[in-house]
Amino acid sequence: MAWIKRFHKPGDPEEGYYFDVGTFVCRGHFKDNFLNNYIKRNGDRGTCSYCKRRRRVIELEAVLELIAIGLDYIYEDPANTRYLNKETTYGYDGDVQPFDEIWRDDSFDLRIEDEKLYEDVKDQLQKDELYCKRDEFGSHEDYLHDLWSHFKEVLRHKARFVFHFPNTFSQWNLSEPVKILDQVQFTIIKQNMIKELPIGTNLYRARQHKIVNEVDGAPKIASLPNHLNKAAGRMNAAGISLFYCSNYKDLTVKEVVSKKGGATLTILQPFLKIIIS
Ligand SMILES: [Zn+2]
Repeated sequence: MAWIKRFHKPGDPEEGYYFDVGTFVCRGHFKDNFLNNYIKRNGDRGTCSYCKRRRRVIELEAVLELIAIGLDYIYEDPANTRYLNKETTYGYDGDVQPFDEIWRDDSFDLRIEDEKLYEDVKDQLQKDELYCKRDEFGSHEDYLHDLWSHFKEVLRHKARFVFHFPNTFSQWNLSEPVKILDQVQFTIIKQNMIKELPIGTNLYRARQHKIVNEVDGAPKIASLPNHLNKAAGRMNAAGISLFYCSNYKDLTVKEVVSKKGGATLTILQPFLKIIIS
C-alpha cells in the first residue's frame, strides 16, 4: 500500500501523512532512541500488537509518520532534482535508489527484528518513487561550516569591522561573510530562542567575595557600570555590561563559585548569604 500526504482539499497546505494499518507498537522493537522516547512520552498503556505484552504503546501510524518525515528530510525525488541520463540504471544522474534498496540498507538504523512489524512498516512506506539524498552534493550544514570558517578568516586577518561591504570578501563558492550573521539571526528566530519572561519571574544571580559583609545591597551584586566592565565575559565584550543570571539557583552557584574566589557567596533573589567552608 502506498502512503500519501493528507490534504483537506486541493491547494491546502500539507497536513501530514495518511497511513492505515491499525496496529499498536511498544518501544521494544526499534533501535532508535528518538522513536522509543517518542513512544514513551506519547503512548498509553495497552497491548503491543507485535510482542503481545501490556506496556506503553502507540498507534503504528504515529511512528510511520515520523519515519516518513525523516525520509522526506533526507531524500528527494530525482525526477524533480536530477538531470536525465539514459546511461544509468534508473535514468537519472546521481546515486538513485528505489525504496526497496533504502529499506534493505536500513538507512535510519532501526534494526527491526520482529518480522511482522518489519513487513507492516515496509508495506506502508513502500512507494514507486525513486530516492536520492538531498545532500548528495554537499549539505546545508557543510555550507554553514564553510561560511563560518570564511567569516572567521576575514575578521581575524582582513577586516575586523568592515566585513559587511558587499562584493569585497566573498569567495567563489561562498556568500558574503556577513551572511553567516543572517543565518544565525534566522535560526534564533526560527527556533524561538528569545524568551520573554513574565513580570515576577524568579531569577538568581550570585557573587563570590572575600569579606563577609562586602555585598550589602543590590548595587553590589548588580552588573557593573559599563566604564568599570574591564573584562570580557562569556557573552559580553569588555566595556559592555550584561546582567548574567539564571532561573536555577544551583546552576547559578556552579557557574560562579571558583576555588580562588573568596569564602562568601551572596545570591540575589532571595538575598541570601552563604559561607563556603
Ligand atoms: Zn512490543
